[in-house]
Amino acid sequence: MFKPNYLILVLCFFAASLSGHATAQWHQKSFQVMGTQAHVEFWLEQNEHSSISDSPAQLIEKVEQEMHRIDRLMSPYKPNSQLSHINQQAGIAPVKVNQELFNLLLDSRQIAELTQGTFDITYASIGYQYDYRQGQKPAKSDINQALDAIDYRAVMLDKQQSSVRFKNQDVRIDLGGIAKGHAVKQCLAILKAAGIKHGLVSAGGDTGLLGDRRGRPWFVGIKHPRAAEKTAVQLPLSDESISTSGDYERYFIEDGVRYHHIINPKTGDSARKVVSVSIIGKNSTYVDALSTAVFVKGLQEGMALINKLPEYEAIIIDNQQTLHVSRGLQEN
Ligand code: ADP
Ligand code: MG
Repeated sequence: MFKPNYLILVLCFFAASLSGHATAQWHQKSFQVMGTQAHVEFWLEQNEHSSISDSPAQLIEKVEQEMHRIDRLMSPYKPNSQLSHINQQAGIAPVKVNQELFNLLLDSRQIAELTQGTFDITYASIGYQYDYRQGQKPAKSDINQALDAIDYRAVMLDKQQSSVRFKNQDVRIDLGGIAKGHAVKQCLAILKAAGIKHGLVSAGGDTGLLGDRRGRPWFVGIKHPRAAEKTAVQLPLSDESISTSGDYERYFIEDGVRYHHIINPKTGDSARKVVSVSIIGKNSTYVDALSTAVFVKGLQEGMALINKLPEYEAIIIDNQQTLHVSRGLQEN
């Protein structure tokens, strides 16, 4: 009597572990959104005890749709986005916007204050005159004329009305330095709400991590700034977000000078003190905006700022391609 029972037990165990293998696995998808490549990846354990109601495909679809929704709301290239509407109207009269966009405008102002205006969404007052694909930049006189309008204080936010008003008609805004971080944050929340414990969401240079990679850290690479195929460094991370700003994503070179998509709000010209900045922290939105700000600030000022913020760490690659890390990342 003992033997058959034992056998049944063993068989049951095998059946259980086999079915476990069939439904618990990594799921992933890469797709294009916000003018860049996005990626979602997660471990889904689906068995009868699972609280996860979505199928892997449904969950991936939710994440993808969330990114497209944010793009439709915030893209400066879509004439019907709320952002375009603000740029068309807010110089004339207050424009009511949805709460999510309003909150991101509040975040943008807070980060502008935190970074002494090196992160400033009104950079767009001149930014829209650059076309990196066409190799076009504004004339010096156009830059000089626009400089007055580059000032985060020129964006007036009315919390009661949830409305935006510009100081004058020359002001324009663009959320390109913060929207992808926000999108990553939203998508991580979707995965978390679905019960996912191990996941990754990325959009361009912004990556958010949920938990670890099942007992091991995730490895997030920072691109080599001057060799597209190479990785400068791989970072083991869990439960963090990381954002990289580089001068190699969108640029053209004219007379030996690199014109790229990160603009110093004080000069209206591309920032050229460093070539790559990565910021690590829990808040995906903030790490995105901070990587842009620290890029503008450069090594000394940028590192000094991050060393004052205990929740964030930085990896900066300077013009000599030397890598520098903030205090929290240094071994001691
Ligand atoms: P990426 O968009 O490649 O991820 P970043 O996070 O560094 O890189 O963001 C760069 C984008 O931020 C630019 O394409 C532009 O839309 C916007 N931007 C450029 N300069 C500034 C600035 N000084 N402050 C805020 N946003 C900026
Ligand atoms: Mg950024």
